Amino acid sequence: NKRILFKDYITGAPKESDMVQTVGSIKLKVPEGSNSVLVKNLYLSCDPYMRNLMNKPMEGEESYILPFFPGQVVTGFGVCKVVDSGHPNFKEGDYVWGITGWEEYSLVPSPEALFKIPFTDVPLSYYTGLLGMPGVTAYAGFHEICKPKKGEYVYVSAASGAVGQLVGQYAKLMGCYVVGSAGSKEKVDLLKNKFGFDEAFNYKEETDLVATLKKYFPEGIDIYFENVGGPMLDAALLNMRVKGRIAICGLISQYNLDKPEGVHNLFMLITKRVTMTGFVSMDHYHCYPEFVEKTRNYIKEGKIVYVEDTVEGLEKAPAALVGLFSGRNVGKQVVLVARE
Ligand code: NDP
Repeated sequence: NKRILFKDYITGAPKESDMVQTVGSIKLKVPEGSNSVLVKNLYLSCDPYMRNLMNKPMEGEESYILPFFPGQVVTGFGVCKVVDSGHPNFKEGDYVWGITGWEEYSLVPSPEALFKIPFTDVPLSYYTGLLGMPGVTAYAGFHEICKPKKGEYVYVSAASGAVGQLVGQYAKLMGCYVVGSAGSKEKVDLLKNKFGFDEAFNYKEETDLVATLKKYFPEGIDIYFENVGGPMLDAALLNMRVKGRIAICGLISQYNLDKPEGVHNLFMLITKRVTMTGFVSMDHYHCYPEFVEKTRNYIKEGKIVYVEDTVEGLEKAPAALVGLFSGRNVGKQVVLVARE
């Protein structure tokens, strides 16, 4: 059983060498009397939150998700096939998505955290992104947190990524005006030509983000879907419209910093009566059935498209995860471990 271990707590940007590949043994049978589920991992997901689990936990710090501990198998979202099950809800041959290990086979001790895959007439890898955790994040974050109305002005940062590309498309389906930012010309082209954003720009080429946003939103921003934080959040704050909404989905520009940058323009929340709300996808899993049904229809009708960046082989997973922090991925970062 090839597997990837997390070495030790880190500071700064993650490196491939923070993880190491080893071989362990695993019995391809669930232990007698246990209600765990044994799965074969097909696709693994690289997600920015995994970086935050590599920080040494501070004493007394509370988090909704446990950090990694040195020497453990890296865990994350994945798409798997059930090989053996001691749990009444799962049987051999079922396809599932949820938290699994970065290894060929995993024994999942809490199968409550696994979702049965409802439709297999789409690529199974979609359950790491479009129809998995990032998809729920985009759907719930946009509809439940941002509460969009037709015709509103929407700005999305890290817009070509797993979450951002979907937020932009949901916003277009709502009849909003949508602008996205991303870190390369290739990504900007995707936003405009593949995902249907009205406008897009490369934030790395802009020296004055406040002026850039003013140029794209002369009347101001109603909804900012925040994925990056730092100076981008400050620039967006200065461009918000009265009664605007900011959904704090992620702050990836801050994850590798020992000391996060300050936010300077919070006074805008008062003067413009702006609501800024942080949210976590797992609080919104109640909308999963509705989300998956609607989104599947959008896929079938060609109203939603999805771009994935797939590397093949478990041994490529650490580099793929690290690549998220330099924008190496174009679309949702997936690791193909096994086809079946
Ligand atoms: P992506 O697929 O978008 O990958 C990350 C992207 O972030 C990179 O490709 C890069 O794109 C961009 N990026 C990296 N470093 C920086 C930086 N310093 N400044 C600006 N952009 C940067 O990831 P996801 O779509 O999965 O996640 C997007 C955000 O959503 C993250 O902040 C993540 O933590 C958050 N998230 C939150 C969830 C929640 O429950 N609240 C759930 C899922 C995700 P580029 O080339 O454009 O720079």
